[in-house]
Amino acid sequence: MAKTKPGKKDLDSYSIKGTNKVVRPDDCVLMRPSDSDKPPYVAKIEKLEADHRNNVKVRVRWYYRPEESIGGRRQFHGAKELFLSDHFDVQSAHTIEGKCIVHSFKNYTKLENVGPEDYFCRFEYKAATGGFTPDRVAVYCKCEMPYNPDDLMVQCEGCKDWFHPSCMGMTIDEAKKLEHFLCSDCSSEDETKRPLNSFHVSPPDEAKVESKRRKR
Ligand SMILES: [Zn+2]
Ligand SMILES: [Zn+2]
Repeated sequence: MAKTKPGKKDLDSYSIKGTNKVVRPDDCVLMRPSDSDKPPYVAKIEKLEADHRNNVKVRVRWYYRPEESIGGRRQFHGAKELFLSDHFDVQSAHTIEGKCIVHSFKNYTKLENVGPEDYFCRFEYKAATGGFTPDRVAVYCKCEMPYNPDDLMVQCEGCKDWFHPSCMGMTIDEAKKLEHFLCSDCSSEDETKRPLNSFHVSPPDEAKVESKRRKR
């Protein structure tokens, strides 16, 4: 490998201490938090580098959990949801404690089983402002909320929208037994359609920043 700085060397891979697992740039890893009561941090490896004493440093791009974001965890955030942040760091490779997989939202919803190492990401996150990309996402159901992949939803055969059983006055068990489902709008004579809306994801301040930027 080409030397980047005197005494430093880029590495193609690194074996996680005490395991036979090998990580490479672009892999997602769990990193030991300074407070052992907290869940591990999740990061994407940008670069692995060894110094002249063979101390391995890892340049990472952090994933944020919803509770670590400025807006906090919201109802539509999944338990395994992460945001890809614009926050980079250099850490000792010793803090890597395991590998994980951060799926796209679509692939995550198709997983047959979600293992402890499976996460998903549908938003990029600006750590300084709390803003998200994309800034708007589709909403479903009467409650007009973005999709939380942890929640069961049933699809209406009329309008093709998806609904939470609880919002339709059903239990989860009742919904699972359904063979056909029509939402209350489609099963009534009332033809008035509710408008298709989108949900504003970022905190209000970020929205202002965005619109100001666009005007320039
Ligand atoms: Zn709902
Ligand atoms: Zn319907």
